[in-house]
Amino acid sequence: MSLADNIRKVTPYTPGEQPQHKVIKLNTNEFPYPPSPKVVEAIRAINASKLRLYPDPDCRELRETLAEEYGLEPEQVFVGVGSDDVLSMCFLTYFAGKKPILFNDITYSFYEVWADVYRIPYETVPLREDFTFDPAGFIKENGGIVICNPNAPTSLEANMDDIEKVVAENQDSVVLIDEAYVDFGGHTALPLLKKYPNVVIIRTMSKSRALAGLRIGYAFGSRELIKALHDVKFSVNSYTLNMPSLAAGVAAANDREYFEETVDRVLVTREKAQETLRAFGFTVLESRTNFLFAKPPASITAENLFEQLKERNIYVRYFKKPRLSEYLRITIGTDTEMQEFVKVLQQILP
Ligand SMILES: *Cc1c(COP(=O)(O)O)cnc(C)c1O
Repeated sequence: MSLADNIRKVTPYTPGEQPQHKVIKLNTNEFPYPPSPKVVEAIRAINASKLRLYPDPDCRELRETLAEEYGLEPEQVFVGVGSDDVLSMCFLTYFAGKKPILFNDITYSFYEVWADVYRIPYETVPLREDFTFDPAGFIKENGGIVICNPNAPTSLEANMDDIEKVVAENQDSVVLIDEAYVDFGGHTALPLLKKYPNVVIIRTMSKSRALAGLRIGYAFGSRELIKALHDVKFSVNSYTLNMPSLAAGVAAANDREYFEETVDRVLVTREKAQETLRAFGFTVLESRTNFLFAKPPASITAENLFEQLKERNIYVRYFKKPRLSEYLRITIGTDTEMQEFVKVLQQILP
């Protein structure tokens, strides 16, 4: 035995870069506009002297607000420190069996990291050649399922009938649906909650609510599954969301008007950017997210374009992995940022 034998070893998830100098940042799918003015107000209204107290461990007000917004009971809502925390707790809670869990070969790369760190066996299910979702691979013995819909980094949405098929055929396992991007024109699996007791839906305020910096994520499910999640959370860390995040989350969930207006703006910019890239000869997948997954024209490789954009202070995401290395993932910025991006592209493209 050595010291090293006692240490847990894991290959961590690699987040997108957060450069400290001024760049056009289209690499981590953050929202391009500021959070709702009501969020800013709520944070200003925080009484700092109250910070000596612990925050509400039940996150009651935020859970009630979300429940009302989505037509659920507060007992069906769990909140955590970003959806990464929520997903991590879900893996720990729902994937305690011995059979392998299933997720797609191309999807959010954190899933395999959580599986590794919690020693959960897993198998990947390939997307079709054109990156579309194939439910057939999920119809087999398993200890749980995770589906990211709309998917990252492909930006594509799976058909809701296919999702329902996976849920219906796997009623002995929990099916997690990661809906981080659903607000950008996707279809939610929320209606399935009424029909099936094995679905859990994961959402985040990091993308469509412009609150990546505060770390607020949530999950919806049956009372029983959400109770199991709370039992695990209270066995790890009772005080997860801090006071400012709780207050801001409530304000964000209550400002539907600002949310819809700013998301619509992103959708308009996305359609424009998609057309422009196609006119330049890019292959662009049909995005239901706040990013584009695009393959540059034959005259330049994705990797070369990524490097050249970076030299000109435009950051996009490049994955040097099988099936992905010919594409770039480009977050939708403001109109001005996207115009600058297009201008620079014109300079680079031969
Ligand atoms: C961004 C993202 C998350 C994590 O979001 P946070 O709430 O910021 O932790 C989870 N899943 C997917 C697919 C994402 O893209």
